[in-house]
Amino acid sequence: MAKAEYNKTHNGSDNNSPQTEELQVGFIGNPNSGKTTLFNAYTGAKLKVANWPGVTVEKKEGVFKSHNHSYKLVDLPGIYSLTSYSIEEKVSRQYILSDDVDVIIDVVDASNLERNLYLTLQLIEIGKPVVLALNMMDIVEERGMEIDLHRMPEMLGIPVIPVSARKKTGLDILMHAVSHHTEIEPENDPIVVYSDLIEDKITKITERLREHNPDIYNPRFYAIKLLEKDPEIMDTCPVDVSDILDKSYETEIIKQKYDFIEEVIEEVLINRQERARRTDKIDRVLTHRIWGMPIFFGIMGLVFLLTFALGDGIKGIFEGWLESLSIWVDSSLSAINAGPILISLIVDGIIAGVGTVLTFLPNIAILFLALAFLEDSGYMARVTYVMNGIMNKIGLSGRAFIPMLLGFGCTVPAIMATRTLENERDRRKTILITPFMSCSAKIPIYVLLSGMFFGKLASLAALSMYIIGLVAGLLTSYAATKVENKIDQLKAPGEKPEVNQLLIELPEYKNPNLYSILIYVWENVKEYLAKAGTTIFVASIILWFILRFSTTGYVEDMSQGFGAAIGRFLVPILEPAGLGFWQISLSLIAGLAAKEVVVSSMGILFGIINIDEAGISTIYQSLEAIGFGPLNAYAMMIFVLFYTPCIATLGVIAKELKSAKWTTFVITFQLAFAWLASVIVYQIFKLILY
Ligand code: GDP
Ligand code: MG
Repeated sequence: MAKAEYNKTHNGSDNNSPQTEELQVGFIGNPNSGKTTLFNAYTGAKLKVANWPGVTVEKKEGVFKSHNHSYKLVDLPGIYSLTSYSIEEKVSRQYILSDDVDVIIDVVDASNLERNLYLTLQLIEIGKPVVLALNMMDIVEERGMEIDLHRMPEMLGIPVIPVSARKKTGLDILMHAVSHHTEIEPENDPIVVYSDLIEDKITKITERLREHNPDIYNPRFYAIKLLEKDPEIMDTCPVDVSDILDKSYETEIIKQKYDFIEEVIEEVLINRQERARRTDKIDRVLTHRIWGMPIFFGIMGLVFLLTFALGDGIKGIFEGWLESLSIWVDSSLSAINAGPILISLIVDGIIAGVGTVLTFLPNIAILFLALAFLEDSGYMARVTYVMNGIMNKIGLSGRAFIPMLLGFGCTVPAIMATRTLENERDRRKTILITPFMSCSAKIPIYVLLSGMFFGKLASLAALSMYIIGLVAGLLTSYAATKVENKIDQLKAPGEKPEVNQLLIELPEYKNPNLYSILIYVWENVKEYLAKAGTTIFVASIILWFILRFSTTGYVEDMSQGFGAAIGRFLVPILEPAGLGFWQISLSLIAGLAAKEVVVSSMGILFGIINIDEAGISTIYQSLEAIGFGPLNAYAMMIFVLFYTPCIATLGVIAKELKSAKWTTFVITFQLAFAWLASVIVYQIFKLILY
């Protein structure tokens, strides 16, 4: 933020004829409060999507015309507070403080007032015109709750308009209120009055800011931010207030805002008890100090049991279909006299590659179904809370656990979810370790290898990957934090390391919405199918080609092809990890396209079409023949667990880190870690077992 912020005078006041001028209206609110739905209700499909300057946060703009008013609407990212920790918060705050915005529409989920009002209070404190859109009124009515619409604006000092974005009610009144609320008195009494100690400091800082700059617009906001030791405001503060600022009052200020919210809720919300009571009751068990964690691990255990046990059952059906398909294609192609190379490309290349990956669809769908269920019921938010203790010990906030958990589904959205993290370091560390959480694309590899080599212990072997990955991730973050603190100590001796504070409001539990769960699962399944149709399809063809061709043309014996030559080149490096086989190293390289390709390439390499019982025993025999046993299989699972994620993930990592240096570091680190871990596992077990 530039110094100029302090010199700003309110721009609404020179708006003499708002009738003719275009009003710029920013939509702000908590995630899921219905901003986008409301925004779309006004703008329809006519919107412009771009990014906020310099960051990957989406910016949506649209125009709405009513009577002789024209409004330029801007949809801001969903945020819970106006600190400068996350990129979303920075973007939103910068926009609100800028001259661009005339009126802010604070979109509040009326069915979750308590949580939503925290942001509202901060917006009011900024001192720009705010209109509160009390959204989801349909839900409020359905639940038999009532909100005192007379008392609420009185207590908050801003217009409160009940709407339902989904049912499109109250929209005209809301915009009407906006057009009449473009100016406010800067000298209004504050809405939240803090304790005497804090108010006293606010007064002192305010006076000093005014002395330095008599034109300053809303010094109270800056004073409060200074008392919270907001890093951005501190950096740009033009006057020295260090004598008043003996410490950070952030926690006190947060608490006192919540005290005020409690008062508001007490007065304006009628009939809220029942649901809240149910949530409290459930939370007493699920977020219990001692039981919370075992319950969480129990739930995750159940999720994985379903994913593997139930998923494998359904997988059998898929395999049957695939088998029939490949037999049918083979015979039809022969019947029309297709050449053997073409038949090989289609059957050994495409069907073997894409098909093997598709048979894992049931496992993946079940995993996403379970994750969606946890999210929609409200339990996911509790996970943050339950895991906060452990996460703090490894130098991360409880919030970082959500990206990690999502990482079990797919690393791409998981990396994107790190945007909600408070600071750069947290983000970087989380991005570094999230790929260690076994994503669903690794499932086929674990299922295949452990099924072949570990018999009754197969599930245990697969499960161990999840645990090893999680532990390695936690340890890595712990070590990284230690290094960071060391560096800080060297740079600024004597300063205490920053402590992460977690402030989350737990939403009420609700019955999961089947529709939104199914949408979520379908979107992820679609993504998986699309990957099978594109990346894996192409990778399978390329792989088939390099395996089946050499400088002399088509080769029957794959060990004579280009692929074998590439694989052999890496054999010496992978030898100490028990992976010194050209077939294995080749499939590992192929896995960079997408992790499923490791399995599809083994299908192609060992000439099998279907990973059914017969197919597996063919692979098993081929592996046995080259001297690849259980220990090698386990080392390979370890390597796959840790090594560089797929191209798609690397793309997102590069985009999120916005730094070639850090991206290179992440890739190198993961490759080195994978190699070292599999070497250690292989060598130690070799000593013990043989
Ligand atoms: P955003 O994250 O703030 O942009 O929220 P969205 O606009 O994506 O809305 C989140 C969810 O709430 C979606 O499933 C919407 O359909 C739903 N939603 C939004 N407004 C309303 C409303 O007024 N009533 C009801 N029942 N649902 C709503
Ligand atoms: Mg949205």
